[in-house]
Amino acid sequence: MNNEAAKRGGLVFFVDFDGTITRQDVCAVMVEAFATAGWREINASWERKEITTEQCANMTFNLFRTDPSDLKRLLETMEIDQYFKGFLSLCREKGHMVYVLSDGYDFCIDTVFAKYQIDVPYYANKMVYDGSFKIECPHINQQCGVCGTCKTELMEKLKGRGNTVVYIGDGYSDTCPVTKADIVFAKKDLYCFCREKGIKARHYSSFRDIIAYLESRP
Ligand SMILES: [Mg+2]
Ligand SMILES: [Zn+2]
Repeated sequence: MNNEAAKRGGLVFFVDFDGTITRQDVCAVMVEAFATAGWREINASWERKEITTEQCANMTFNLFRTDPSDLKRLLETMEIDQYFKGFLSLCREKGHMVYVLSDGYDFCIDTVFAKYQIDVPYYANKMVYDGSFKIECPHINQQCGVCGTCKTELMEKLKGRGNTVVYIGDGYSDTCPVTKADIVFAKKDLYCFCREKGIKARHYSSFRDIIAYLESRP
């Protein structure tokens, strides 16, 4: 990778949350547990980019029959990739920045990070509750019109000068930022997407593979 060689300086990692840091897609688990019938159709139109994350979330939240304490109990059962914390320590040691970019929710990330004592800057949608759940999107990008949290715009803002941008993800919310990253680690749907679109991506199964990559770098 010529780009990479030319910019052998710092690496800056942008990491998806749902299904990438967590073993399961937390949003999907939450919806399956608490939404009444109809959410699959809503999710399918989001995957086809017919509706925005904001619309998808509010439509899905209308089907929710739960409250924040039940939700929190469910979130506390979520597990993370067992090598993620090792990856964070190694990045800290080597001076690489790590940002988590999620089109999911602050409440989910806060709960999981508290469980595992993880302290990493993240950008996500806000979940608000006033008798019913709603989404707020402080990182929306009007030019994009699809994402609640526009990862591509955030990545451009946060990457700094001369750093090599590494993106790690697994799904639909990652399909836009991978086209702008220097190095992509992908699994599951995201890996298939990259292959279909001819986007160069390295397949990974867990953060152990990313640790191996970091350790092999001169
Ligand atoms: Mg994901
Ligand atoms: Zn976007």
